[in-house]
Amino acid sequence: MDTPLGSVLYITLGCAKNEVDTDRMRSLLTAAGYEEAFDPQDADIAIVNTCSFLASATSESIETTLELANEVQDGVRSCPIVMCGCVPSRYGDDLPDELPEVAAFVKADEEDGIVAVIDGVLGVEREIAAYIPQVKRTVEGAVAYVKISDGCNRFCSFCMIPYIRGRYHSRNSESIISEVRDLVAGGVREIVLIGQDTGIWGTDFADEDVADGSPRNLAQLLRAVAEAVRPHNVWVRVLYLQPEGMTDELIDTIRDTPEVLPYIDIPVQHCDARILKAMRRSGSRQELEDLFRDLRERIPGIVIRSTAMVGFPTETDDEFRDLIDFMDTVGFDYTSVFAYSREEGSLAAKMEGQVDEEVKLERAQEAMDLAESLGFAATAAHVGERAQVIVDGIEETEDGAELIGHAWFQAPDSDGAVHLDASEASVGDILTVEFTDSFCYELIGHVVE
Ligand code: SF4
Repeated sequence: MDTPLGSVLYITLGCAKNEVDTDRMRSLLTAAGYEEAFDPQDADIAIVNTCSFLASATSESIETTLELANEVQDGVRSCPIVMCGCVPSRYGDDLPDELPEVAAFVKADEEDGIVAVIDGVLGVEREIAAYIPQVKRTVEGAVAYVKISDGCNRFCSFCMIPYIRGRYHSRNSESIISEVRDLVAGGVREIVLIGQDTGIWGTDFADEDVADGSPRNLAQLLRAVAEAVRPHNVWVRVLYLQPEGMTDELIDTIRDTPEVLPYIDIPVQHCDARILKAMRRSGSRQELEDLFRDLRERIPGIVIRSTAMVGFPTETDDEFRDLIDFMDTVGFDYTSVFAYSREEGSLAAKMEGQVDEEVKLERAQEAMDLAESLGFAATAAHVGERAQVIVDGIEETEDGAELIGHAWFQAPDSDGAVHLDASEASVGDILTVEFTDSFCYELIGHVVE
C-alpha cells in the first residue's frame, strides 16, 4: 500500500470479545490502506469499541468517548470519533442526539462494514476492494482470543447481553480452524476460545450446515483445534462455560487432549436454588458441588475459575452466607465477584426486593476478600513448582525492565502474571520456569531453560 489514507486510534473497553472485534476492524482498515495511530494527537480518526455489560461499563464507555473528544478539541488537531460495539447496539437510536461529539455509530453486528464508515467520515471516495471482507485477522503478542460464537439464548434475568448481541449463533468450524491456523502461523502461542456460552457451541447447526466428519459440539471442536496446532507447541484454553455445558465428552476431552489446558472457567453467579431460579438460571448448591468435585476427580490438578454475583434482588443474608460457604467449600482458584447492577430493561430491574446499595457493597467486599484469600493461597501453592511460561512482554519498573509472562494456570489478562528473572527472551518464547515466590496473584519465576 502506498501513502496511508489516514491513521486510526483504537480504544477497546470491556471484555476479550471486544478485543477480538477491534482486531478484526484493525485488520480490515489496515488492508484498506489505513495505518494505526497510538496517540490522539497523531490520529485522523478514533474508534472507541465500547462495553455495555453493566451500567458502570456504559458510563465508562461514554466518559472515555467524551474525554477523547475534549482532549482532541483542545489539542492541535481535531479528530472525529466513531463509537462501535455494545453501547450503539444497546442504545442505538437515542445516541446521535445525546452524543453529538461522535461522528458515526457502528453496532456490534455492523462492524464488518467499518471501512465504508471510516471512508465516509474522512471523505474518502472509492470502491471498497472485494478482497477486504476476506482479510485475515492478525494480533500483536503471544495470545489470541478466538470467538467461536456470539449472542446468547439464556436470557438470565440480570443480563442485557442477549438483547445487545442477539440470539446465540455458532461460528462454523472451518472458519474457526482457518483463523487458528493463520494466528499460529503468525506466531501466536496460546489460543483462547471465547463466546458468551461456549459449552453449547454447535447445538444451533442444522444437519445440512455441517459437513460429514466436521465438529458438531465443543468437545469435537476442541479436538479439531488441538490437531490444527499440534505441530507448533501451542496452548488451547476455553473460557465461559456454563454448568449445563459440562458433558462427559467435554470433560474427557479436556483431560485427554494435551494441547487443551486443564483450566475450567464456569461462571456460577450463585449457588442457592431459589436465587438461581430468579436469575433464570438452573441448578442448586448440591448439583454445583457435585459438578466441581467430579471435575477435580476426573481432571487431577485442574484449575477452576468462576464468577459470583451478590445482592441479587431478594437475596437474604442467609442465602448470601450460603454463597460464601459454597465458595469456600469448592475453593475456587480464581473468582470474579460482582455486586448486582440494576440494568435498565432487564427483568431483574423490575423485581420487588431490590437489595439496599450499602448491603450489596458490604456483601461484595466480603465475597471479594474470600475470593482473594482463596486466590492468593492457590497462587502461593505453585511456589516450588516448575512449569512452562509464555513470555507476554516487557514491563518498565523502578529497577529497570522486567519480563512478564503467564503460566498455563493463569488465564491471560485475568489471573495474574509471572515476573521472570531473565533479560534475554522474546514475546512468544515458552520458557521452563521455577516459581520462587508469590505476592497476591503474582508469581516470581526463575528461568531454568
Ligand atoms: S449466560 Fe446469562 S449472564 Fe451470560 S451472557 Fe447469557 S444471559 Fe448473560
